[in-house]
Amino acid sequence: MTVFPLPPNATIGLVGGGQLGRMSALAAARLGYRCHILTRETDSPAAQVSHGVTISDYTDPVSLRAFAAQVDVISFEFENVSAAGLELLASLKPVRPSPDVLRISQDRIAEKSFLNGAGVATAPWVAVGSLAELRDGVASLGLPAVLKTTRLGYDGKGQAMLRDPADLEPAWERLAPKPLVLEGFVDFAREISVIVARGADGAMSCFDTVENRHRNHILDLTLAPAPVAPAIDQAAQATARRVAEAIGLVGLLAVEMFVDRDGRVPVNEIAPRPHNSGHWTIDACPVSQFEMHIRAIAGLPMPPVTRHSDAVMKNLVGPEETALWPRILATPGLIPHLYGKDAAYPGRKMGHVTRLFPKGGLPGDFGIDAALGFLATPRTQD
Ligand code: AMP
Repeated sequence: MTVFPLPPNATIGLVGGGQLGRMSALAAARLGYRCHILTRETDSPAAQVSHGVTISDYTDPVSLRAFAAQVDVISFEFENVSAAGLELLASLKPVRPSPDVLRISQDRIAEKSFLNGAGVATAPWVAVGSLAELRDGVASLGLPAVLKTTRLGYDGKGQAMLRDPADLEPAWERLAPKPLVLEGFVDFAREISVIVARGADGAMSCFDTVENRHRNHILDLTLAPAPVAPAIDQAAQATARRVAEAIGLVGLLAVEMFVDRDGRVPVNEIAPRPHNSGHWTIDACPVSQFEMHIRAIAGLPMPPVTRHSDAVMKNLVGPEETALWPRILATPGLIPHLYGKDAAYPGRKMGHVTRLFPKGGLPGDFGIDAALGFLATPRTQD
């Protein structure tokens, strides 16, 4: 029987072997815990820094039972794990956040229904199960609109922008599995996110609202704090708290939002785990998102989140940015993080770099470019 708070040397099971698991395992080690990773990969970033690993798919009951037998509490670091597998694990050991939370976040229809039911605004949306329903949806939401798969979408995969009536049929044919979700286009000024941690006793603490900038649909930069008006910041934080409470979170939840032209903050999606837009917290906060995750699932006290510096986080994506590694190491002020992945495929997140600024001293865009130097994102004309 698992006793909370978990004592030192207890073992935390993490489902998923990527960089989020790696950084969670590093935070857990600092608190005196061991991590055991369940992953399909033979040489995963998380297993490289953990006490143990079970290599299996996420559905094999024999492997799941063997994994559960070796750990005291279980969490997950990515959402594409089977909810049924997680439910089997939950029958054996505490799973935090619960499989119900995962189930909601795995399916855009369940997610949006849940959010709207909790009084949280999203872009207007309809579920579409046929081309005729797609045409009806476009008639009511208008163009442009965004058509998305309900599952397994990340980094812009599994979605199509609809600008013209002629776009409907090819997009409907291309995207699978059905049904799909049609969303009204949000003409956003910025994309922001808030990461909220919630303990089993309901105590919550939010990291600062940050701005996220994407390149080729992949997160490129996070600016902490987001350069937004206080009212927007407060609305974003209140939204994150509301979602965490309504979903009964124990753990960490990232809430991605748009800031629209009227200053509203509709939610785009939620992720019940550490998030790429929180990597800056390792270097700019006394307690990082990863430590808050571990504290929440281990039943440890949840300190209020504070930030001692402003920060910009730059992802290192694919072979070109990874090739800059020697220059990054040789540049004072750039704080390097590499994930231990063997091959740098195009689009693959290989590491990140944090640049700190005095609190309150985050510069504007040109200042950020100057501070990132050779890592600054080239400005395009589009
Ligand atoms: P997602 O896969 O839902 O995270 O979407 C990836 C990116 O597509 C977002 O970060 C936005 O830049 C853009 N996007 C998604 N949905 C919408 C929308 N309804 N309106 C405008 N842009 C969107």
